Amino acid sequence: MGKTEITEIGEFGLIRRIRKRYSRASPFVLSGIGDDAAALRFPPGHSVLVTTDTLVENVHFSRQSTLPYLLGVKSLAVNLSDLAAMGGTPRFFLLSLGIPKGLSLSFVERFFQGIGESAETYGVLLVGGDITAAANLVITGVAIGHSPPGEMVCRGGAQPGDRIYVTGPLGDSALGLEILRQRGLRPRDFTYRGEIRGRDGDLLGLVRKHLAPVPQVLKGRKIAESGCASAMIDISDGLLADLGHIMEESRVGARVWVEKVPRSEAFERWASHYHHSPMDLVLAGGEDYELVFTAPRDLLEGDPSCARLDGLPVHPIGEVTARAGNLTLVGGDQKPYHPAGLGYDHFRDRTRRK
Ligand code: ADP
Ligand code: MG
Repeated sequence: MGKTEITEIGEFGLIRRIRKRYSRASPFVLSGIGDDAAALRFPPGHSVLVTTDTLVENVHFSRQSTLPYLLGVKSLAVNLSDLAAMGGTPRFFLLSLGIPKGLSLSFVERFFQGIGESAETYGVLLVGGDITAAANLVITGVAIGHSPPGEMVCRGGAQPGDRIYVTGPLGDSALGLEILRQRGLRPRDFTYRGEIRGRDGDLLGLVRKHLAPVPQVLKGRKIAESGCASAMIDISDGLLADLGHIMEESRVGARVWVEKVPRSEAFERWASHYHHSPMDLVLAGGEDYELVFTAPRDLLEGDPSCARLDGLPVHPIGEVTARAGNLTLVGGDQKPYHPAGLGYDHFRDRTRRK
Protein backbone atom coordinates (compact mmCIF):
# COMPACT_ATOMS: atom_id res chain seq x y z
CA MET A 1 0.00 0.00 0.00
CA GLY A 2 1.52 3.32 -1.08
CA LYS A 3 0.57 6.89 -0.28
CA THR A 4 -2.29 7.01 -2.75
CA GLU A 5 -4.80 9.62 -1.70
CA ILE A 6 -8.44 8.81 -1.72
CA THR A 7 -9.17 11.60 -4.23
CA GLU A 8 -7.17 9.69 -6.84
CA ILE A 9 -9.67 6.85 -7.03
CA GLY A 10 -12.70 9.11 -6.42
CA GLU A 11 -16.14 8.43 -5.00
CA PHE A 12 -17.17 5.88 -7.59
CA GLY A 13 -13.82 4.11 -7.58
CA LEU A 14 -14.18 3.70 -3.85
CA ILE A 15 -17.77 2.48 -4.07
CA ARG A 16 -16.68 -0.11 -6.65
CA ARG A 17 -14.00 -1.41 -4.29
CA ILE A 18 -16.40 -1.53 -1.34
CA ARG A 19 -18.98 -3.36 -3.42
CA LYS A 20 -16.48 -5.89 -4.68
CA ARG A 21 -15.13 -6.70 -1.24
CA TYR A 22 -18.09 -6.39 1.06
CA SER A 23 -21.23 -7.23 -0.91
CA ARG A 24 -22.63 -10.62 0.08
CA ALA A 25 -25.49 -12.58 -1.35
CA SER A 26 -28.14 -13.21 1.27
CA PRO A 27 -31.76 -14.34 1.31
CA PHE A 28 -32.38 -11.23 3.44
CA VAL A 29 -31.07 -8.79 0.82
CA LEU A 30 -33.03 -8.40 -2.43
CA SER A 31 -30.81 -5.51 -3.47
CA GLY A 32 -27.76 -4.06 -1.67
CA ILE A 33 -24.81 -1.86 -2.63
CA GLY A 34 -25.20 -0.60 -6.19
CA ASP A 35 -28.86 0.27 -6.31
CA ASP A 36 -30.64 3.44 -5.26
CA ALA A 37 -31.94 1.89 -2.08
CA ALA A 38 -31.32 -1.38 -0.31
CA ALA A 39 -34.26 -3.79 -0.42
CA LEU A 40 -34.34 -5.97 2.69
CA ARG A 41 -36.35 -8.86 4.08
CA PHE A 42 -37.24 -9.55 7.69
CA PRO A 43 -38.72 -12.58 9.42
CA PRO A 44 -42.53 -12.28 9.42
CA GLY A 45 -44.02 -10.77 12.55
CA HIS A 46 -40.76 -9.29 13.83
CA SER A 47 -40.33 -5.62 14.70
CA VAL A 48 -37.71 -3.81 12.62
CA LEU A 49 -35.20 -1.83 14.70
CA VAL A 50 -33.26 1.06 13.14
CA THR A 51 -30.62 3.24 14.75
CA THR A 52 -27.94 5.71 13.69
CA ASP A 53 -24.81 7.08 15.32
CA THR A 54 -22.13 9.47 14.13
CA LEU A 55 -18.44 9.71 14.94
CA VAL A 56 -16.81 13.06 14.12
CA GLU A 57 -13.06 13.54 13.91
CA ASN A 58 -11.76 15.75 16.73
CA VAL A 59 -15.03 15.38 18.65
CA HIS A 60 -15.26 11.60 19.13
CA PHE A 61 -11.81 10.51 18.01
CA SER A 62 -8.61 11.90 16.64
CA ARG A 63 -6.83 10.29 13.71
CA GLN A 64 -3.52 10.48 15.58
CA SER A 65 -4.73 8.41 18.48
CA THR A 66 -6.52 5.54 16.87
CA LEU A 67 -5.85 2.91 14.22
CA PRO A 68 -8.03 2.99 11.10
CA TYR A 69 -8.95 -0.68 11.53
CA LEU A 70 -10.13 -0.08 15.10
CA LEU A 71 -12.01 3.04 14.04
CA GLY A 72 -13.93 0.82 11.63
CA VAL A 73 -14.63 -1.68 14.39
CA LYS A 74 -15.87 1.10 16.65
CA SER A 75 -18.08 2.68 13.97
CA LEU A 76 -19.99 -0.56 13.67
CA ALA A 77 -19.91 -1.30 17.40
CA VAL A 78 -21.54 1.95 18.56
CA ASN A 79 -24.46 1.29 16.23
CA LEU A 80 -24.85 -2.41 17.04
CA SER A 81 -24.80 -1.53 20.72
CA ASP A 82 -28.04 0.42 20.30
CA LEU A 83 -29.70 -2.62 18.77
CA ALA A 84 -28.32 -4.80 21.58
CA ALA A 85 -29.86 -2.38 24.08
CA MET A 86 -33.31 -3.15 22.63
CA GLY A 87 -32.62 -6.88 22.67
CA GLY A 88 -32.52 -7.01 18.87
CA THR A 89 -30.59 -9.10 16.37
CA PRO A 90 -28.50 -6.90 14.04
CA ARG A 91 -28.64 -7.71 10.32
CA PHE A 92 -27.77 -4.73 8.11
CA PHE A 93 -25.49 -1.72 8.13
CA LEU A 94 -25.29 1.46 6.06
CA LEU A 95 -22.29 3.72 6.20
CA SER A 96 -22.07 7.37 5.20
CA LEU A 97 -18.64 8.91 5.11
CA GLY A 98 -17.46 12.52 4.96
CA ILE A 99 -13.88 12.17 3.79
CA PRO A 100 -11.28 14.96 4.04
CA LYS A 101 -8.99 15.63 1.10
CA GLY A 102 -5.63 13.99 1.57
CA LEU A 103 -6.87 10.97 3.51
CA SER A 104 -4.83 8.02 2.28
CA LEU A 105 -6.38 5.11 0.47
CA SER A 106 -4.67 2.76 2.91
CA PHE A 107 -6.44 4.47 5.84
CA VAL A 108 -9.80 3.99 4.14
CA GLU A 109 -9.03 0.38 3.23
CA ARG A 110 -8.05 -0.56 6.75
CA PHE A 111 -11.05 1.25 8.11
CA PHE A 112 -13.28 -0.81 5.82
CA GLN A 113 -11.44 -3.97 6.78
CA GLY A 114 -12.31 -3.26 10.42
CA ILE A 115 -15.94 -2.75 9.50
CA GLY A 116 -16.02 -5.79 7.21
CA GLU A 117 -14.43 -8.21 9.66
CA SER A 118 -16.54 -7.20 12.59
CA ALA A 119 -19.66 -7.19 10.43
CA GLU A 120 -18.86 -10.80 9.64
CA THR A 121 -18.44 -11.58 13.35
CA TYR A 122 -21.92 -10.28 14.11
CA GLY A 123 -23.61 -11.60 10.98
CA VAL A 124 -24.25 -8.09 9.67
CA LEU A 125 -24.30 -7.14 5.97
CA LEU A 126 -23.16 -3.81 4.54
CA VAL A 127 -26.01 -2.84 2.23
CA GLY A 128 -25.38 0.80 1.34
CA GLY A 129 -24.14 4.21 2.28
CA ASP A 130 -22.93 7.48 0.92
CA ILE A 131 -19.63 9.23 0.34
CA THR A 132 -19.00 12.95 0.28
CA ALA A 133 -16.08 15.32 0.74
CA ALA A 134 -15.80 16.96 4.16
CA ALA A 135 -13.39 19.08 6.21
CA ASN A 136 -12.97 16.35 8.84
CA LEU A 137 -13.59 12.65 8.75
CA VAL A 138 -17.26 12.08 9.61
CA ILE A 139 -18.63 8.55 9.97
CA THR A 140 -22.36 7.97 10.18
CA GLY A 141 -23.58 4.43 10.57
CA VAL A 142 -27.11 3.12 10.34
CA ALA A 143 -27.73 -0.30 11.84
CA ILE A 144 -30.89 -2.26 11.15
CA GLY A 145 -32.02 -5.32 13.05
CA HIS A 146 -35.14 -7.06 14.22
CA SER A 147 -36.71 -8.56 17.27
CA PRO A 148 -39.22 -11.39 17.69
CA PRO A 149 -42.77 -10.54 18.77
CA GLY A 150 -42.97 -9.53 22.43
CA GLU A 151 -39.21 -9.51 23.05
CA MET A 152 -38.28 -5.89 22.53
CA VAL A 153 -36.97 -4.13 25.66
CA CYS A 154 -37.44 -0.35 25.96
CA ARG A 155 -36.23 2.30 28.40
CA GLY A 156 -39.66 3.04 29.81
CA GLY A 157 -40.70 -0.12 31.67
CA ALA A 158 -38.83 0.05 35.00
CA GLN A 159 -41.03 -0.29 38.11
CA PRO A 160 -40.32 0.74 41.71
CA GLY A 161 -38.92 -2.28 43.52
CA ASP A 162 -37.14 -3.68 40.44
CA ARG A 163 -33.48 -4.59 40.77
CA ILE A 164 -30.90 -2.85 38.59
CA TYR A 165 -28.27 -5.06 36.89
CA VAL A 166 -25.24 -4.48 34.70
CA THR A 167 -23.76 -7.07 32.35
CA GLY A 168 -20.05 -6.44 32.91
CA PRO A 169 -17.28 -4.26 34.32
CA LEU A 170 -17.45 -0.48 33.90
CA GLY A 171 -14.76 2.19 33.75
CA ASP A 172 -12.30 0.38 31.47
CA SER A 173 -13.01 2.53 28.45
CA ALA A 174 -12.74 5.84 30.33
CA LEU A 175 -9.52 4.63 31.95
CA GLY A 176 -8.26 3.58 28.51
CA LEU A 177 -8.93 7.12 27.27
CA GLU A 178 -6.98 8.56 30.23
CA ILE A 179 -4.06 6.27 29.48
CA LEU A 180 -4.19 7.29 25.84
CA ARG A 181 -4.20 10.97 26.78
CA GLN A 182 -1.30 10.63 29.16
CA ARG A 183 0.89 8.26 27.15
CA GLY A 184 -0.27 8.83 23.59
CA LEU A 185 -0.78 6.04 21.09
CA ARG A 186 2.33 4.22 19.99
CA PRO A 187 1.26 2.41 16.84
CA ARG A 188 4.05 -0.15 17.27
CA ASP A 189 2.26 -1.42 20.41
CA PHE A 190 -0.43 -2.91 18.17
CA THR A 191 -0.66 -4.76 14.90
CA TYR A 192 -2.68 -2.83 12.33
CA ARG A 193 -5.68 -4.98 13.32
CA GLY A 194 -5.34 -3.87 16.93
CA GLU A 195 -3.79 -7.02 18.38
CA ILE A 196 -1.53 -6.12 21.28
CA ARG A 197 2.17 -6.68 20.71
CA GLY A 198 3.77 -4.21 23.13
CA ARG A 199 4.63 -4.95 26.74
CA ASP A 200 2.18 -3.52 29.33
CA GLY A 201 -0.57 -5.78 28.00
CA ASP A 202 -2.89 -4.62 30.80
CA LEU A 203 -2.63 -0.97 29.88
CA LEU A 204 -2.83 -1.61 26.17
CA GLY A 205 -5.86 -3.81 26.76
CA LEU A 206 -7.60 -0.87 28.44
CA VAL A 207 -6.64 1.44 25.57
CA ARG A 208 -7.95 -1.12 23.12
CA LYS A 209 -11.25 -1.32 25.00
CA HIS A 210 -11.62 2.40 24.42
CA LEU A 211 -10.62 2.31 20.76
CA ALA A 212 -12.65 -0.76 19.82
CA PRO A 213 -15.54 -1.41 22.19
CA VAL A 214 -17.52 -4.64 21.99
CA PRO A 215 -21.27 -4.35 21.43
CA GLN A 216 -23.04 -6.78 23.75
CA VAL A 217 -25.32 -8.29 21.16
CA LEU A 218 -25.48 -11.80 22.63
CA LYS A 219 -26.08 -10.49 26.14
CA GLY A 220 -28.87 -8.24 24.87
CA ARG A 221 -30.48 -11.19 23.10
CA LYS A 222 -30.29 -13.44 26.18
CA ILE A 223 -31.84 -10.77 28.36
CA ALA A 224 -34.62 -10.10 25.85
CA GLU A 225 -35.29 -13.79 25.30
CA SER A 226 -35.55 -14.43 29.04
CA GLY A 227 -38.44 -12.00 29.22
CA CYS A 228 -37.22 -10.79 32.61
CA ALA A 229 -36.11 -7.22 31.80
CA SER A 230 -38.51 -4.36 32.41
CA ALA A 231 -36.15 -1.74 30.89
CA MET A 232 -32.72 -1.72 29.28
CA ILE A 233 -30.13 0.67 27.82
CA ASP A 234 -26.51 0.44 26.67
CA ILE A 235 -23.88 2.38 28.58
CA SER A 236 -22.48 4.87 26.12
CA ASP A 237 -22.57 8.11 28.11
CA GLY A 238 -21.75 6.64 31.53
CA LEU A 239 -23.72 4.51 33.98
CA LEU A 240 -25.37 7.39 35.81
CA ALA A 241 -26.26 9.33 32.68
CA ASP A 242 -27.70 6.26 30.98
CA LEU A 243 -29.51 5.04 34.07
CA GLY A 244 -30.90 8.59 34.16
CA HIS A 245 -32.48 7.94 30.74
CA ILE A 246 -34.23 4.84 32.10
CA MET A 247 -35.41 6.85 35.13
CA GLU A 248 -36.76 9.60 32.90
CA GLU A 249 -38.58 7.32 30.46
CA SER A 250 -39.92 5.09 33.26
CA ARG A 251 -40.70 8.02 35.63
CA VAL A 252 -38.92 6.36 38.52
CA GLY A 253 -35.91 6.95 40.76
CA ALA A 254 -32.91 4.76 41.52
CA ARG A 255 -30.60 3.79 44.34
CA VAL A 256 -27.16 2.54 43.31
CA TRP A 257 -24.72 0.72 45.61
CA VAL A 258 -21.51 2.08 44.13
CA GLU A 259 -19.20 -0.60 45.53
CA LYS A 260 -21.27 -3.26 43.78
CA VAL A 261 -20.61 -1.90 40.33
CA PRO A 262 -18.18 -4.42 38.81
CA ARG A 263 -14.65 -3.38 37.76
CA SER A 264 -12.07 -5.38 35.83
CA GLU A 265 -8.80 -6.60 37.37
CA ALA A 266 -6.83 -4.31 35.07
CA PHE A 267 -8.97 -1.41 36.21
CA GLU A 268 -8.36 -2.17 39.89
CA ARG A 269 -4.65 -2.41 39.25
CA TRP A 270 -4.18 0.78 37.21
CA ALA A 271 -7.03 3.24 37.76
CA SER A 272 -5.45 5.11 40.65
CA HIS A 273 -2.22 5.55 38.66
CA TYR A 274 -4.06 7.44 35.95
CA HIS A 275 -7.00 9.11 37.69
CA HIS A 276 -7.49 10.87 41.02
CA SER A 277 -10.96 9.46 41.52
CA PRO A 278 -11.36 6.02 39.90
CA MET A 279 -14.97 5.63 41.02
CA ASP A 280 -15.87 8.58 38.79
CA LEU A 281 -14.60 6.61 35.81
CA VAL A 282 -16.80 3.70 36.85
CA LEU A 283 -19.95 5.76 37.44
CA ALA A 284 -19.63 8.53 34.90
CA GLY A 285 -17.06 7.40 32.34
CA GLY A 286 -18.74 6.41 29.11
CA GLU A 287 -18.28 4.07 26.19
CA ASP A 288 -18.08 0.75 27.98
CA TYR A 289 -21.10 -0.43 25.97
CA GLU A 290 -22.15 -2.94 28.60
CA LEU A 291 -25.90 -3.07 29.23
CA VAL A 292 -27.80 -1.89 32.28
CA PHE A 293 -31.27 -3.30 32.81
CA THR A 294 -33.99 -3.57 35.42
CA ALA A 295 -35.94 -6.69 36.37
CA PRO A 296 -38.58 -7.55 38.98
CA ARG A 297 -36.83 -8.47 42.19
CA ASP A 298 -37.82 -12.11 42.48
CA LEU A 299 -36.96 -13.05 38.87
CA LEU A 300 -33.18 -13.27 38.99
CA GLU A 301 -32.48 -13.38 42.71
CA GLY A 302 -31.93 -16.86 44.06
CA ASP A 303 -30.87 -18.04 40.58
CA PRO A 304 -27.09 -18.16 41.00
CA SER A 305 -26.51 -20.07 37.78
CA CYS A 306 -28.61 -17.50 35.94
CA ALA A 307 -30.56 -20.32 34.31
CA ARG A 308 -33.17 -17.87 33.20
CA LEU A 309 -30.49 -15.88 31.38
CA ASP A 310 -28.95 -19.00 29.87
CA GLY A 311 -25.92 -18.73 32.17
CA LEU A 312 -25.22 -15.04 31.48
CA PRO A 313 -23.65 -13.57 34.64
CA VAL A 314 -25.20 -10.26 35.67
CA HIS A 315 -24.38 -7.98 38.59
CA PRO A 316 -27.03 -6.40 40.83
CA ILE A 317 -26.01 -2.78 41.50
CA GLY A 318 -29.10 -1.17 42.92
CA GLU A 319 -32.85 -0.85 42.95
CA VAL A 320 -35.55 1.20 41.30
CA THR A 321 -37.35 3.61 43.61
CA ALA A 322 -40.67 5.43 43.35
CA ARG A 323 -39.42 9.05 43.54
CA ALA A 324 -39.23 10.06 39.89
CA GLY A 325 -35.90 11.58 38.92
CA ASN A 326 -34.29 10.94 42.30
CA LEU A 327 -30.92 9.23 42.17
CA THR A 328 -29.28 8.10 45.40
CA LEU A 329 -25.76 6.72 45.51
CA VAL A 330 -24.81 4.60 48.49
CA GLY A 331 -21.14 4.04 49.37
CA GLY A 332 -19.51 0.96 50.90
CA ASP A 333 -20.08 2.44 54.36
CA GLN A 334 -23.83 2.73 53.61
CA LYS A 335 -23.42 6.53 53.63
CA PRO A 336 -24.47 8.74 50.70
CA TYR A 337 -21.80 8.86 48.01
CA HIS A 338 -21.11 12.03 46.00
CA PRO A 339 -19.58 11.67 42.51
CA ALA A 340 -17.69 14.44 40.74
CA GLY A 341 -19.46 14.14 37.38
CA LEU A 342 -22.67 12.68 36.03
CA GLY A 343 -21.66 11.49 32.59
CA TYR A 344 -20.95 13.09 29.28
CA ASP A 345 -23.29 15.51 27.57
CA HIS A 346 -22.13 17.05 24.30
CA PHE A 347 -23.72 20.39 24.88
CA ARG A 348 -23.41 20.80 28.62
CA ASP A 349 -19.83 19.85 29.14
CA ARG A 350 -17.40 20.33 26.31
CA THR A 351 -14.33 20.04 28.45
CA ARG A 352 -14.38 16.32 29.09
CA ARG A 353 -13.24 15.36 25.62
CA LYS A 354 -10.70 17.29 23.58
P1 ADP B 1 -27.14 7.73 -5.12
O1 ADP B 1 -26.50 8.84 -5.89
O2 ADP B 1 -28.29 7.09 -5.79
O3 ADP B 1 -27.39 8.08 -3.67
P2 ADP B 1 -24.51 6.72 -4.75
O4 ADP B 1 -23.80 6.97 -6.02
O5 ADP B 1 -24.29 7.66 -3.61
O6 ADP B 1 -26.05 6.55 -5.08
O7 ADP B 1 -24.17 5.25 -4.25
C1 ADP B 1 -24.18 4.16 -5.15
C2 ADP B 1 -24.38 2.88 -4.37
O8 ADP B 1 -23.25 2.68 -3.52
C3 ADP B 1 -25.61 2.90 -3.47
O9 ADP B 1 -26.17 1.61 -3.49
C4 ADP B 1 -25.04 3.20 -2.11
O10 ADP B 1 -25.83 2.66 -1.08
C5 ADP B 1 -23.65 2.53 -2.19
N1 ADP B 1 -22.69 3.23 -1.33
C6 ADP B 1 -22.28 4.52 -1.41
N2 ADP B 1 -21.39 4.81 -0.46
C7 ADP B 1 -21.24 3.69 0.30
C8 ADP B 1 -20.49 3.36 1.44
N3 ADP B 1 -19.71 4.25 2.08
N4 ADP B 1 -20.61 2.11 1.95
C9 ADP B 1 -21.41 1.20 1.34
N5 ADP B 1 -22.13 1.44 0.26
C10 ADP B 1 -22.06 2.67 -0.27
MG1 MG C 1 -25.61 9.43 -2.76
